Amino acid sequence: MAIERLFIANRGEIAVRIVRAAKSLGIHTIQAHSEADVEMLSVKLADEAVCIGPAPSKDSYLNIQAILDAAKATGADAIHPGYGFLSENAGFARAVEEAGLIFVGPSADTIERMGDKVAARQAALAAGVPVVPGSDGRVDGVEATLAVAEQVGFPVMIKAAAGGGGRGIRIANTAGELAALAPQAKAEAEAAFGDGSLYVERAIVAPRHIEVQILGDGDRAVHCFERECSLQRRRQKVWEEAGADCLDAPTRDALCASAVALAEAVGYRGAGTLEYLYDESTKEFFFIEMNTRIQVEHPVTEMLTGIDLVAEMIRVCGGAPLSMTQEQILRSGHAIEVRICAEDPFNNFMPWPGRIKTLVEPTGPGVRFDHFLSEGYQIPPFYDSLVGKVIVHAETRDAAIDKLTTALTEMVIDGTKHTGPLHLALAADPEVRAGRFHTQWLEPWLDAGALSAKGDAA
Ligand code: ADP
Ligand code: ADP
Ligand code: MG
Repeated sequence: MAIERLFIANRGEIAVRIVRAAKSLGIHTIQAHSEADVEMLSVKLADEAVCIGPAPSKDSYLNIQAILDAAKATGADAIHPGYGFLSENAGFARAVEEAGLIFVGPSADTIERMGDKVAARQAALAAGVPVVPGSDGRVDGVEATLAVAEQVGFPVMIKAAAGGGGRGIRIANTAGELAALAPQAKAEAEAAFGDGSLYVERAIVAPRHIEVQILGDGDRAVHCFERECSLQRRRQKVWEEAGADCLDAPTRDALCASAVALAEAVGYRGAGTLEYLYDESTKEFFFIEMNTRIQVEHPVTEMLTGIDLVAEMIRVCGGAPLSMTQEQILRSGHAIEVRICAEDPFNNFMPWPGRIKTLVEPTGPGVRFDHFLSEGYQIPPFYDSLVGKVIVHAETRDAAIDKLTTALTEMVIDGTKHTGPLHLALAADPEVRAGRFHTQWLEPWLDAGALSAKGDAA
């Protein structure tokens, strides 16, 4: 049964993106919002809007009962969770299913299996996909943790099984550090995810973060090629590309094939991403986790392949088979996305939720600006700082960087500090231009003052 009335249980730029995709499919849209988000762009764009509670996320966007009540009251037949918030919460997906509504994502069982990093590792191993050497399952207590670390070799990463958003992760170089950091990771995971269970894996030194976009209809899965997301701060992506020019063709084929194998092994439905670390020196890739939802950086893949990933995930979750075969998915050129956050990049990325005075959107061929801003809009201080994404597409990576520079120079977001200047500086950096970076590259670059030097000169 195709979806007819879609309830959007998220906010910000992704809510705008979902409203547009649903409308393109002729679906009636119902935007949920908190009391702080009455003025939000997707509230204006959607066919209907409904308040689900006060500003704090726990009372609104994380309030399962309030969301279900509002979805039922507005006659919705499906709920799109977006990213963040409840998007990877198996309990929420199950509650939606039990209320007789469609969850626009995989089944609650699949989220349980693939959203938990330990269970996902085991599923990957079973499907023949390489994982980072580490503990077989959860590890409890300093003794057990140390034993695994000694087996796989230092440095090691201590990770929260339920982790996300770069939280609950620590790197330990020695047994002493491990003993000190494991309790910290556990406490952080308990506070952030309500689950303090940990596991340990070898820390790969200076890897690339490469991920594969997949789509599945529960029966068949296809990949839409890979993304390169190594430019990270605090293990959060800030700049993403499609494709990853560091891969040779056989490695790319093997990586993408492994993602399809794993997605099919778990009968995956919807849009999902398999994240890997890639060791350039040995050309080895290791699965690290699966994100069972649409991702922030999905537009670079859309620019590369011409596929509307959000529309396709809505279609397949409504029961339709995938609308394309693997052979029909082609890549062309190169795409780059940069995250525009309302933060001060010159002052330790301090959140800066201002009121927008002037907004000039970058446009032109191959330029896309996904955002939820408008002149006069006051950015609410209660939520994630991501306010937009500038995405460019061009024939080559070099041309894409040039186009990005033009777009960022053209863009004006007056009234708030934002991370546009960071991206202009990155675009001008010779190492970024040459594509020579890894996941541990950006933080030392920032610490060395590369940004403020450029900012002062500008
Ligand atoms: P992606 O994998 O799509 O790049 P991120 O890991 O950056 O996504 O997370 C997507 C968004 O959701 C970010 O804005 C992040 O702050 C937020 N987020 C991630 N995990 C959680 C979580 N468990 N709860 C709430 N928000 C989260
Ligand atoms: P999250 O759920 O927070 O996104 P991930 O497991 O995807 O957690 O890891 C986030 C980031 O942490 C990765 O993109 C990478 O930069 C780094 N990382 C994770 N695991 C390892 C590892 N074993 N070795 C080196 N870096 C890692
Ligand atoms: Mg991740």
